[in-house]
Amino acid sequence: MASAPPPSETPSGFAVGRPADVAAYLEANRERVLEELLDLLRIPSVSTDPRRAGDVARAADFVADALRRAGLEARVHPTAGHPVVTAASAPIAGAPTVVIYGHYDVQPAEPLEAWATPPFEPVVVDGRIVGRGASDDKGQFFAHVKAVEALRDLDGGLPLNVRFVVEGEEEIGSPNLAAFLTEHRAALAADVALVSDGAMLAPETPTITYGLRGAVYLTVRVRTAARDLHSGAYGGGVANPLGALAAMLAGLKDGDGRVAVAGFYDDVVELDDAERERLASVPFDREAFMADAGITATPGERGFGLLERLWARPTLDVHGLGGGFVGEGMKTVIPAEGVAKLSCRLVARQDPDRIAHLLDAHLRRAAPEGVEVDVVVEGRGEPALTPLEHPAVAATASALEAVWGRPVAYARSGGSIPVVADLQRALGAVPVLLDMGLEDDRLHAPNEKFEVRHYLQGILASAATLRALAAALGAR
Ligand SMILES: [Zn+2]
Repeated sequence: MASAPPPSETPSGFAVGRPADVAAYLEANRERVLEELLDLLRIPSVSTDPRRAGDVARAADFVADALRRAGLEARVHPTAGHPVVTAASAPIAGAPTVVIYGHYDVQPAEPLEAWATPPFEPVVVDGRIVGRGASDDKGQFFAHVKAVEALRDLDGGLPLNVRFVVEGEEEIGSPNLAAFLTEHRAALAADVALVSDGAMLAPETPTITYGLRGAVYLTVRVRTAARDLHSGAYGGGVANPLGALAAMLAGLKDGDGRVAVAGFYDDVVELDDAERERLASVPFDREAFMADAGITATPGERGFGLLERLWARPTLDVHGLGGGFVGEGMKTVIPAEGVAKLSCRLVARQDPDRIAHLLDAHLRRAAPEGVEVDVVVEGRGEPALTPLEHPAVAATASALEAVWGRPVAYARSGGSIPVVADLQRALGAVPVLLDMGLEDDRLHAPNEKFEVRHYLQGILASAATLRALAAALGAR
């Protein structure tokens, strides 16, 4: 663990101090908190695999038991899919409420032969916990469970009201969570939603992620004829769906790299000078980014820096394009149909449903005569943006700075965690993303790992954050 940084006044203004009592508690309980996480990692709770449904249910029971041992009242709620585990601390009237979100399901472990050790027989090697789910997300949400337990043991109780929502369907798109949150909104309503399911900017850089992109995914089909037609008999007299589709897709962006769909940018929260300055100060290595991806250029929307485009601007990308004949040799056919897959990453406050509607209308207008267009929305998720001026952000930052002895970095993510917007909307909670993992934790890949140090620092950070939130929000 890190040597103790100077306590008391932090750059964010709250006098919190590194929680020396929690650090000492963790030293004394190190093996136990580690072993308990390994026990959870041993359960192969792969949500997408129907043969693992029993293991997923077993993981839910394990989580509920762990929450009970931490002093909370826990319940396992059946859903149409995998169960949701909720828990609540003994109510403290007048105190603020924090809801902690996590997911106990994991990605499939295949290809198994690429793992150095079996994915569901976790090991600690060279200071790393290796096993499926170590970082995503069992290790990260379990750090909060252990923090709550530590505060109960040290202080005899919690400084504020704590709720947990731990789902088992995150890796399959959380199909039942939004409805669950709405149904249980009275029991789960909170001032702040703490979410730890992401990566710090660097191993020693405590990070708060305050912006997530949303997304909308479309399948576009164009049809011109009842069947494929002979190009000698019909060529020159019929529309070609592939040519039409290519032109329609090309027309979705203008020469400045902007999406050329009327109304697309209407609801975008623009970057102000302060945020542009903050993003410009984030250490980001463009050369390494290019080398890693094997790319030779970073084109995009004119007028915005690379990090601004990756984190804070909406996008439109084509993922697949198909139709007609692409086999060996030749076939002189005018195909009847063409298909494209495309999606947009969206930023606050773009509404995925409205964007889907605008794209649909645009593509229909752009279709040449004789071309029938069919658009299907395959998936959608809302963007999220945490107001940095909310006192919960400063309180969390002060706690992280006390634990790490380093200033907090504020990051956005180009990716999407739609549940964050659901927590915000259904529970009225301000989302605070306290990232504990690292970019190289090999999420969804073989040999997933979570640094032991980051697990323990995560427990410290969670405990310090709960105390800081109680002080900052309780005093309002
Ligand atoms: Zn995750």
